[in-house]
Amino acid sequence: MRLVCLDLEGVLVPEIWIEFSKVTNIDELRLTTRDIADYDVLMNKRLNILKERGLTISAIQEVILELDPLPGAKPFLDDLRREYQVVILSDTFYEFASPLMEKLGWPTLFCHRLEISSDGSVEGYVLRQKDPKRQSVKAFKNMNYTVLAAGDSYNDTTMLAEADAGFLFRAPDSVITEFPQYPCANEYSELRLLFDEEP
Ligand SMILES: [Mg+2]
Repeated sequence: MRLVCLDLEGVLVPEIWIEFSKVTNIDELRLTTRDIADYDVLMNKRLNILKERGLTISAIQEVILELDPLPGAKPFLDDLRREYQVVILSDTFYEFASPLMEKLGWPTLFCHRLEISSDGSVEGYVLRQKDPKRQSVKAFKNMNYTVLAAGDSYNDTTMLAEADAGFLFRAPDSVITEFPQYPCANEYSELRLLFDEEP
């Protein structure tokens, strides 16, 4: 039994914080884990910016509502789900991802949760668990699945390492250079072939 774990942002949908920063013209929100390695530091910085600007969850969701999955992502995913069990492992939040998940046909998503106060302000966040992508792959293997995984960035590499086979998708050169052991695909059809060719 084979199961595919996919990263979300950069693989199926655009980077949500970067798109949000473009729409709101808030440059500081462009920072990602590539700029600030400590996720807690990064998230607290983001939450402070939201608070300073008075951006509530509904204002953020309005922006996200306008975003679309990457071209070709939906047919790729639909097709993949005919042959494989697919779980999306992401470091985003359910409150952000919902509009995009709807456009992708509600695939299974394991991610984190935001703490929202009654007036809609974003007070904090709750990580599902530590090293969530790796822990999820481990659990699926424990359930006797052969796990194939694909992602585009540093936060995917523990998932790729834990999987029976790991692949990079549209990864930046820095990641490809640092992790040459993972074959890299740039098109959905190539990625699908990599999955299908796994013995
Ligand atoms: Mg990503």
